[in-house]
Amino acid sequence: MDSRAIAELILHLGRIASGDGLVGGLTPTQWTGLRYFARANRFSRTPSAFAAFHGTTRGTASQIIKGLVADGYLKQTRSRTDGRSIRLDPTRKARALLKDDPLQALVRAADALPPGVRGSFAAILQRLLGSVAVQAGKPLFGTCETCAHFEGDDCCQDGVSAYECGFVNEPLAAGELDQLCINFSSAKPGQPGIGTA
Ligand code: SF4
Repeated sequence: MDSRAIAELILHLGRIASGDGLVGGLTPTQWTGLRYFARANRFSRTPSAFAAFHGTTRGTASQIIKGLVADGYLKQTRSRTDGRSIRLDPTRKARALLKDDPLQALVRAADALPPGVRGSFAAILQRLLGSVAVQAGKPLFGTCETCAHFEGDDCCQDGVSAYECGFVNEPLAAGELDQLCINFSSAKPGQPGIGTA
């Protein structure tokens, strides 16, 4: 199979896996928002980070968020430090609806792959994503354990978290390590990042 056919296959897979029409009362675009805020870490649950992830304008992202807040799927909290920035957290209603996510068909298909194949496939997709993000000038979202800013040694002392984010200089809870982050960097100082090799 040539590279063009692979690219079209990935695009087609993404399109049909996102579903069409309303599912659980939400459009495919609203589902993208719901999934994002359920997966993103506390530094990334903002309108601008969602706009960057979704590859859209702030205005379009705000409209999607407004609808999800009005329908009770997202709760808005103002930052205590600057009073202007807001954080959006998925509500219990949102978490319950995520069980009907149309993406579940693709999750089941990935689940059926042998574990070794799944690992290599994930690494290939990550590499393709990195390369396309660099070419498009988009941020490369990722998770803590493969991030250049991640500091941790698996040992917790006196109730203090063993993990820390070197980018914002804040401790991280174990449950945050697999959440999506806009500040992710795959490049250790002096090393190329994913997709730039
Ligand atoms: S370690 Fe990296 S991925 Fe984790 S919170 Fe910090 S910047 Fe984000």
